[in-house]
Amino acid sequence: MQLSDRITQLTGDGSDGWDVFYRSRQMVADGEPVIELTIGEHDVRTDPSILEAMHKAALGGHTGYAMVPGIKSLREAVASRIQKRTGVPTTYENVLISAGGQAGLFAAHTAVCNPGDRALYLDPYYTTYPSTIRGTAAVPVVVHTHAEDAFQPRAEDIDAESEGATSLLINSPNNPTGTVYSRQTLDGIADVCKRHDLWLISDEVYDTQVWEGDHVSPRALPDMAERTIVVSSMSKSHAMTGSRIGWICAPKEVINRLIDLATNTTYGVAGFIQDATEFALSQGAELEDKVAEPFRRRRLLAKEILAQQNTVGLIPAQGAMYLMLDIRATGLSGEEFANKLLDTHMIAVMPGESFGTAAAGHIRVAMTIDDERFAAALNTLCEFAKDIAETT
Ligand code: PLP
Repeated sequence: MQLSDRITQLTGDGSDGWDVFYRSRQMVADGEPVIELTIGEHDVRTDPSILEAMHKAALGGHTGYAMVPGIKSLREAVASRIQKRTGVPTTYENVLISAGGQAGLFAAHTAVCNPGDRALYLDPYYTTYPSTIRGTAAVPVVVHTHAEDAFQPRAEDIDAESEGATSLLINSPNNPTGTVYSRQTLDGIADVCKRHDLWLISDEVYDTQVWEGDHVSPRALPDMAERTIVVSSMSKSHAMTGSRIGWICAPKEVINRLIDLATNTTYGVAGFIQDATEFALSQGAELEDKVAEPFRRRRLLAKEILAQQNTVGLIPAQGAMYLMLDIRATGLSGEEFANKLLDTHMIAVMPGESFGTAAAGHIRVAMTIDDERFAAALNTLCEFAKDIAETT
């Protein structure tokens, strides 16, 4: 029996850069004391107050089918949060509750791309981007960003690929680079989108983790609300990765179509999780800051440690829970460096090559262990890099 081309070709050619990740996972499973700095999972769990709200909602009977587009009061809460943060008039009709940001990315591309359409995305990229686009039968088209620009995209590079394209997917604050797109970058992107009539899909799952500069949502830029689809979630902002809840914010007509899609795919999100999300959002920035605080602290720690040496370079860590480190002075690829670091010091990091080709010679370090172990691991990593650089 034959499977569809769409499913068999979903993940493309794969990348060797993930070998080190799977190897570290196996070592952990074998009981080895690996220091895991690989994936974007908080070292704290969902706040007990959110879990209490979830428990109360479930016991109260909110365990049946929930409204497919999301409970109206939650859609209103999300809309009001977005309006407050961006100044763009937003109502519940602009919001669909989704099963996390990932489902939102898939839905957004499904809503705007026909099979065979060119859908642009930027390298380095969050791992699922090209396969998400392929999953909707569109054709992923990559645009490179550059380490020398601290991975801020250049409008002219996007422009060069935009003729006949349908959409552009961006992510700021960015995973894996930690870059926060400047107003100038976003103005350039908005201009390209308007000139080439592109939909802009803006992944803003890290919008509460900004350490330097301001998070600008491109939906707030002139004449962009009508062509922008924002995808966000509670995963990173509220340490709710396992609850699988997020949202899509878009023009009302897009949301109406996405409700049709949700009816035929997820059929909505669990009601008790929606209630807990409404509670979490009602706590405002206080809870979000509490979740973001450890990363803010560790990023400062990292800056201090990295300032004391000159082998490992730091791409300005402006946001998100990662550091992108330039290890080209060692003469190793990111993948070689990560493998050796794991073998010799049991520290697991992601090679830049796991995220495309633009971050080759870099590694991504997730700031997701306690401060003391994090600082010790970073010091070891710098010493290790220095030794290699000196012997080559
Ligand atoms: N977008 C980016 C850039 C991410 O890093 C992630 C998760 O790591 C997601 C989307 C998906 O997040 P979720 O589906 O948990 O909301």
